[in-house]
Amino acid sequence: MPRPITATIHTAALHHNLSRVRQAVPDAKVWAVVKANAYGHGIERVYEGLRGADGFALLDLAEAERVRQLGWRGPILLLEGVFEPRDLELCSRLGLWHAVHCDEQIDMLAAHKTQVPHRVFLKMNSGMNRLGFAPERYRTAWARLNALPQVDEISFMTHFSDADGPRGIAHQVEVFNTAAEDLPGERTLCNSAATLRHGTDARVRGDWVRAGIVLYGSAPDFPLNDINHWAVQPSMTLSTRLIGVQHLKAGDTVGYGSRFVADAPLTIGVAACGYADGYPRHCDTGTPVLVNGVRTRLVGRVSMDMVTVDLTPLLQAGLEPGFGAEVTLWGRAANGTVLPIDEVASAGGTVSWELMSALAQRVPVTVDG
Ligand SMILES: *Cc1c(COP(=O)(O)O)cnc(C)c1O
Repeated sequence: MPRPITATIHTAALHHNLSRVRQAVPDAKVWAVVKANAYGHGIERVYEGLRGADGFALLDLAEAERVRQLGWRGPILLLEGVFEPRDLELCSRLGLWHAVHCDEQIDMLAAHKTQVPHRVFLKMNSGMNRLGFAPERYRTAWARLNALPQVDEISFMTHFSDADGPRGIAHQVEVFNTAAEDLPGERTLCNSAATLRHGTDARVRGDWVRAGIVLYGSAPDFPLNDINHWAVQPSMTLSTRLIGVQHLKAGDTVGYGSRFVADAPLTIGVAACGYADGYPRHCDTGTPVLVNGVRTRLVGRVSMDMVTVDLTPLLQAGLEPGFGAEVTLWGRAANGTVLPIDEVASAGGTVSWELMSALAQRVPVTVDG
């Protein structure tokens, strides 16, 4: 018998979340962002739920190849473009569209031998200062690309640093729209947060949105808004079982470093999930968890293979969870109760993106629906 931990991917939830994105931007095409192995879910496992998208966006050429192997004939966009000249051969062969964010990538295109000209997305650095051409260099870069026989259609993209926070996107939208004004071609600006919050604004929406985290059932602007507000559903449940129960006296401690001290008698459960499964070690006493679908809290430190949970709320409800009881670390319990991954991430001082994509190799994954 393997350890009882499992991750479950919910196809129906992916499907639902994609339709929520479509509702938010009925006039835009949707890139389903499946980088980092579909945010830890597995590209092959999310394909059924997300194949209703207009295209798939990712970074890794091997992942693009996997999407083609699944039979996808539609658009695939490499969000960071190519890393070396021979990547362009794979782009030609697989019909990949790619971002162009620097002069070196234009040089590679200029030297590339291809029968079929490439569709490219010219990226502007509108203020985030990661990738992209500065606004004042954007037109020059466009003119260079536009003169290349290796290039077919040119589209325009930028990325927001603060779509989920108080600074917002207005300053970047202004920079992008001014510098790209009357350049002919499609535009893509929005990640999940901008799509949900500003998708109705025609100056922001563009022709394509790039939806990542919202497809996986997380609120991109948590804690300002949660998944109930955005009406999305968790696409991943991480669950396990109790493999032990301990009855503590006042003064007893729990786990490494004796970080938790019981101030009164307390019954705790020991669940088979630890940081080697991808559960964040920074989650400490108080982090929410479900036992048999009842909300309770972690007590003590997360160890490599185990966490310890307070059983008081269950005992108060007249339940006696023992060995084998269901424990939900995030996602949906068997009784339907949902523990949003955003709450767990927040308790661990991180974000849902990191938790999903850090799901460990040793956790068996199943797909439902
Ligand atoms: C990852 C990524 C996205 C998706 O971001 P979410 O916040 O997960 O929606 C969009 N655009 C680019 C360029 C990205 O790298």
